[in-house]
Amino acid sequence: MPNTIIHLDMDAFYASVEQQDHPELRGRPVIVGGGRNRGVVAACSYEARPFGVRSAMPISRALRLCPEAVLRPVRMARYQQVSRQVFAIFARYTDRIEPLSVDEAFLDVAGCGRLFGTAVEIAKRIRREVRDELGLAVSAGVAPNKFLAKLASESAKPDGLLEIAPEKVDDFLLPLPVERIWGVGAKAAQQLHRYGCRTVADLRLLSEMQLKGMFGVWGENLYRLARGEDSRTVEVDQPSKSFGAEETFASDLRRLEDLRRELLGQAEKVAARLRRHGLEGRTLTVKVRFDDFETLTRRLTLPEPSANGMTLYRAGIELLQRTDAGTRPVRLLGLSVGGLEPAGQGQASLFPDAGSQRLAEIDRAVDKLSERFGSGRVRRGTLFEGEDEEK
Ligand SMILES: [Mg+2]
Repeated sequence: MPNTIIHLDMDAFYASVEQQDHPELRGRPVIVGGGRNRGVVAACSYEARPFGVRSAMPISRALRLCPEAVLRPVRMARYQQVSRQVFAIFARYTDRIEPLSVDEAFLDVAGCGRLFGTAVEIAKRIRREVRDELGLAVSAGVAPNKFLAKLASESAKPDGLLEIAPEKVDDFLLPLPVERIWGVGAKAAQQLHRYGCRTVADLRLLSEMQLKGMFGVWGENLYRLARGEDSRTVEVDQPSKSFGAEETFASDLRRLEDLRRELLGQAEKVAARLRRHGLEGRTLTVKVRFDDFETLTRRLTLPEPSANGMTLYRAGIELLQRTDAGTRPVRLLGLSVGGLEPAGQGQASLFPDAGSQRLAEIDRAVDKLSERFGSGRVRRGTLFEGEDEEK
């Protein structure tokens, strides 16, 4: 399989934009963050990193480590503006673009070869154009799949390009620490360390059954990732073809139960909107932004298209659990539903079982109450009780 996936990730994006907009800051340590009593580093320039400054660190601590650093407030509107320019450069080469955040995306350039050359040649051109036109550095990873492409761009930073040729996957992957694998957080890493797994090579020694035993269904995923296999395709966002809700919190949410309550509200809102339009959705995406502005999305395909608040909520919880939410403060949470189609197309609706009929009845009741009292006022109190058993 040829290399067709490119992962692009801007280097120290917010800090680099500040340096670009304020030439006197170039070559100096820059810290972006603070404001509205959020005292953490949102981003720092590469000049600040040798001092030990990192994202998510309290600004007071960062300034103690690097007193000569220049502190700049977060200017999100400006970063979004630059982000649009960056994505416009990506779009010169393909329309198969999956944005992961303001400064990061996957591109699938299969079939672009005749026009623009190989994936590596395209990555080189994008890097040059972003540098020449915007004065910013973007690192690139080129690989046969998304998992490997992202690892490659991480290894290429700063301001680099790395290709993992299909026959070189093991050379690259086996020596990496398990923490580098997508989805292996601190907790999973600890568990793997207890089994003597420190590198991907160690992880290869565990069977699929063993990994399933340790991590449930996700263990199967881990088994494949350890072999460099990832079947996820580049998901092109079609903004008009999804319904979503998101919320930036006045103060960061730390407790999982608060996030779940928020997610339930969003699921109900999106589901009600789908029903108003006579639609059901097949894919569900949860977006989480942490206090250090790291933003990630998790997506799954539902077994059946749905416009049911509880179904969306349950799937959303599953996705939320694949993030560090609950251990790291969350400043933004969002839920959206895509893969929309007219309601009543799926099998479940043709042969409704008692359960789904009952869910539909509850939905109708919620809709009626919402009409009378305004949406957002109606909440299924019993859901909280049923869903809180984990604690
Ligand atoms: Mg970045």
